[in-house]
Amino acid sequence: MRRLLLALPFALLPLAVAHAHDDDHDHDHAHGSLAAHEHGVARLNVVLDDKTLELELDSPAMNLVGFEHPATSAADKAKVAAVRTQLEKPLALFGLAKAANCSESDQELESPLFGDKPAVDDDGDEHEGHAHSEIHAHYRLACDKPGELKSLDLSPLFKAFPATQKIALQLIGPNGQQGVEATPAKATINF
Ligand SMILES: [Zn+2]
Repeated sequence: MRRLLLALPFALLPLAVAHAHDDDHDHDHAHGSLAAHEHGVARLNVVLDDKTLELELDSPAMNLVGFEHPATSAADKAKVAAVRTQLEKPLALFGLAKAANCSESDQELESPLFGDKPAVDDDGDEHEGHAHSEIHAHYRLACDKPGELKSLDLSPLFKAFPATQKIALQLIGPNGQQGVEATPAKATINF
C-alpha cells in the first residue's frame, strides 16, 4: 500500500479525491462494502500546506464502533452516536502543539453507519454479516503558526479507540512526504 500511495502526489489533489489512492479497494463509502480491510488497522493521510492542515482518516468501523452492521438496536445506535460525537472533535483526537494555534475550519464524517447510504436497502441485505463498513473522517484545520507543528501525537486517538492497533500514515509536510506506521507504543509522528 505504501508503494501505491507514494506513487501518487496527493498533495496536489483535493483530499476529497485523494482517497482514491487505494486502488485495490472499492472506496465507495456510500455503499460501505469494501473488498478488503483489516480490522485494527486504519489509514490516515496528513497534509500540512502552509497554514492548512488536512487530516483524513479511513478506518474500519470495527475499530471505532466495535461493529460494522447497521445500527438498529437502541444500544447500537447510542454507540454510533457516541463515536460520532468523539469524531466531531478532532483536536481531542489528534495531538498538535498548542503553540501552532490550530483551529478547525471544516470537517466531513461519512459512513454507512451514519446513514450515508442509499435509501434502497430495505429488501434483504444479503451480504449482512459479511459486508464491511468504514468510517471516513476528513478534517481541515487552520494553524496560525504551522512552524510550531513539529509532530502529530496520535495517542489520544489510540486511547479513544483502543481497537485501533495500527495506523498507516501518509504525511506530507515541510520535509516532504513520508509513509509511516503508528502504533499505541509509537504514536508520535514528526512532520
Ligand atoms: Zn470490516
